[in-house]
Amino acid sequence: MFKWFGMVNFTPYTRVAEFAAHLKDGRIMASRCSACGARSFPPRADCAACMAREFEWMEISGRGTLHTFTTIAAAPTGFERYAPYTVGVVDLEEGGRALAWLGGTIPSGEIAIGMTLQLVPRIEEDVEEIRVFYSLERPGTTWSKAGAATVGERQAPPAAAGARRREQV
Ligand SMILES: [Zn+2]
Repeated sequence: MFKWFGMVNFTPYTRVAEFAAHLKDGRIMASRCSACGARSFPPRADCAACMAREFEWMEISGRGTLHTFTTIAAAPTGFERYAPYTVGVVDLEEGGRALAWLGGTIPSGEIAIGMTLQLVPRIEEDVEEIRVFYSLERPGTTWSKAGAATVGERQAPPAAAGARRREQV
C-alpha cells in the first residue's frame, strides 16, 4: 500500500504503510504513540519522544499555515513532466509539518507565507495503478471519504500485525 504513495518511492514497505490506504479513503492520518501519546505527522512507527514501537492512527483535519514554498523548475526523477510546479510546507494545526503540491484552488499570485491552507487527499486518475498524494488547497475545499471500516478490513502487512492487533482490542 505504501507504494501507492508518491511518484517515486524508495520505501515500498514500512510499518506505516497503511497511511496510503487511509489517504485513498480520504483520511489524513497522523500517528500517536501508545506509550506517551506524542503525535507525529508524517506518521512514525517508532516514537521520537520515548522510542516506543507501538502506535495508533489518528485522523487529523489537515488544516495548516504555509511555512514556506518554492517553485521547482529542474524537477527530480519522476516529476519532470510536471515542471515547473510549486510545493509548500505547512505547519499543521494538530502538530507536524506536511510537504505538498500547491493545488489548483490557489492562484500562484496569491501564495503567501502565513496563509491558511487545507491538505486534501488526492487519487491520481490518469494512471492505471493506484497513486495517492495530497495537495494544498483553499480552506473549505471538500473531498469524499470512504466508510469508516474500509482500511480495517484490509489485510495488515506482517510486521504491522502487532500494531493492528492492539488497535482491534
Ligand atoms: Zn512515545
